[in-house]
Amino acid sequence: MIKLHDKYFKPFLSEAEIQTAVKSVAEKVAADYKDETPIFVGVLNGSFMFVSDFLKQYPHPCEVSFVKLSSYQGLTSTGIVETLLDPPENIDDRCVIILEDIIDTGRTLQELVHLFSNTNVKEFKIASLFYKSEIYNGEYKIDYVGIEIPNKFIVGYGLDYRELGRNLKEVYQLNQKHMINLVLFGKPGAGKGTQAEFLKEQYNLKHISTGDLFRYNMKNDTDLGKLAKSYIDKGDLVPDEVTIKMLEDAVDKNPDASGFIFDGFPRTTAQAEALDKFLATKDMKIDATIALEANDEVLIQRLLERGKVSGRIDDQDENKIRNRFDEYNQKTAPLKDYYEAQGKFHSVNGIGAIDEITHRLGKVIEEL
Ligand code: AMP
Repeated sequence: MIKLHDKYFKPFLSEAEIQTAVKSVAEKVAADYKDETPIFVGVLNGSFMFVSDFLKQYPHPCEVSFVKLSSYQGLTSTGIVETLLDPPENIDDRCVIILEDIIDTGRTLQELVHLFSNTNVKEFKIASLFYKSEIYNGEYKIDYVGIEIPNKFIVGYGLDYRELGRNLKEVYQLNQKHMINLVLFGKPGAGKGTQAEFLKEQYNLKHISTGDLFRYNMKNDTDLGKLAKSYIDKGDLVPDEVTIKMLEDAVDKNPDASGFIFDGFPRTTAQAEALDKFLATKDMKIDATIALEANDEVLIQRLLERGKVSGRIDDQDENKIRNRFDEYNQKTAPLKDYYEAQGKFHSVNGIGAIDEITHRLGKVIEEL
């Protein structure tokens, strides 16, 4: 196990495994390009080791150049890709083969394709040493792949965690042992969102609220938002398959999180089962489900108050609120048994000052 900054990483791929993969990519490319002099374009910073070892294995005439893009800043992919070093000049009628260290969501790749889209290259191919097929958006064909890897946060062999770890000869993966994954449970208005904001700071967790994700999509009028709106405005639950997919995408976008707070998810037995199954594929699990308890009359007053400032249609009408409680009683309340059977259910009094309630939640978490 090694430590980089605040995080621990365990061995994932040995030097020999990496070199075998590099060699296999070089051989496949060599077979296709023996009659050409391709230009290999490495994507900095991460690809420098791959490019170096690749070239040593490449037996035919070739040229090499680099572009520099940045998308990861520290822990999570920012989604913003900047061009810091432009493509080489005089590449008209040449075969360009991009050498990437890793392809995950495909955002960097999209920018790369864009960078070369107004050049007159003869051929444009993409080779990546590592490839996360589970989360790749599939927009462009990846022509050569070294090793397919699961969606884990990795460092070493050129890849970094906040700039450290690039010099490692092997690849390491984030150790998830210290992860804390919580489900905040409770009726609408119980204070899940409010408490999550405090807990995420205190324990360095990523907060995922399915309600917030739906509202974000509704605000931006996406297809998902349009679909969800018809249910949400009435106080009904959005269908499971839609919600589960959205939740999984949100987790996948944060492979390096120290843990998650799930707020407003799961809300049905099908969602709880899907969550357990999904987390298991990533060596993750729910550590605790904490219910915030408050009675209906208090909750209705809180929601109507919130409705005045939030503009949320589902908060402004007592009938809609009561419908959400009915949905909760029928579909969500049975999850108490589901988590109790796993020994993970905890209950906390949700009435009182905000910081008092945070303290009560903290006590449960500290004892895990
Ligand atoms: P919330 O902000 O958690 O109260 O969620 C607002 C609304 O979004 C709910 O009343 C549902 O219509 C929808 N929603 C949020 N989370 C889920 C979920 N896990 N399953 C189904 N619908 C959900």
